[in-house]
Amino acid sequence: MPSLPDAPLPGTPEGEVTPPARGADADAGPVEDDGSVGSDTLGAIGESAALARIFPRLPTAASALLGPGDDSAVIAAPDGRFVVTTDMMIHGPDFRLAWSTPHDLGWKAAASNLSDVAAMGAVPSGLVVAIAAPADSPVSLLEGIADGLRDACDALAPGCGVVGGDLSVSATLTIAVTAFGDLEGRSPVLRSGASIGDVVAVAGVLGEAAASLLLLFTEGVDADGRPDARLGAALRSRTSAQLAPTPPIAAGRAAALAGATAMLDLSDGLAIDSARLAGASGIGIDFDGGSLGPNPAMALGGGEDHSLLATFPPEASLPSEFRQIGVCVAGSGLTVDGHPHDSSGWDPYRDWTGLLG
Ligand SMILES: [Mg+2]
Repeated sequence: MPSLPDAPLPGTPEGEVTPPARGADADAGPVEDDGSVGSDTLGAIGESAALARIFPRLPTAASALLGPGDDSAVIAAPDGRFVVTTDMMIHGPDFRLAWSTPHDLGWKAAASNLSDVAAMGAVPSGLVVAIAAPADSPVSLLEGIADGLRDACDALAPGCGVVGGDLSVSATLTIAVTAFGDLEGRSPVLRSGASIGDVVAVAGVLGEAAASLLLLFTEGVDADGRPDARLGAALRSRTSAQLAPTPPIAAGRAAALAGATAMLDLSDGLAIDSARLAGASGIGIDFDGGSLGPNPAMALGGGEDHSLLATFPPEASLPSEFRQIGVCVAGSGLTVDGHPHDSSGWDPYRDWTGLLG
């Protein structure tokens, strides 16, 4: 969860965030569809029964030659190579249970990994998911996470599914996802390929996840500043960008096909992530401040949008999902309208306060 930019909330969002599809029973009460009681805890039913409850809810992967249930899955790699990445979510630094539903957690765990696959120009093919949860967690927690994983795959990366995973016990709810992707015969799009004169473009929102988080930390907390579930729920229509982001996964493949020279996904903030791309490529980036939305400071400093930042040769036609926000220049580091800008962003070791909630 990124730090809060010291900036006011932006005005009306640009309307690019579509609320994610929700599992039919994401907000279900204690009685589940199958008649079981949702207040069952993981500790009461045990690992095998818990797995049996969530397997049917998981999305299947088109690439799976052998899916969950054996010691390992077998997935097709028709390219002869595959991309692989992992991203972990920990209760505390990465989410607050007062604000995120189980469905949100599954959705975001999938989305944040899918965007890393997309950022290579690849098409997501499969996920493995490891979850550690307290023994007194209701089984409905895992069921909600499974539903979120399924709905995110269906909406953002059709054909991608969960091919395996692990379940264990821990005092701290932890969700670790590893994602695989297919390059379909193309070269991977690295961070290091940008050249002077290339167009800098983004697909997806800028700063909306951070604006949502700022809203939660200002209006979704009790008098003591602690995350409050009721207040957070009342803000739901304005916090989806943070709690259940909708990164443009298909835009990664489109960028690769259009000749993108470099790409990454914006997980820690436009400023720090673009500086990573600039540093890897040995160039500087000058942003057009007017293209960064109503609140450029939030756009530059806010993390977790999981939008795709890519560079293209000046003669390339940008895929429809992308819009130009800057240009690659000689030198190093970032400028906005020619003025130097710092390249700081979220660092969990420095920025997490230790608060749970
Ligand atoms: Mg990334």
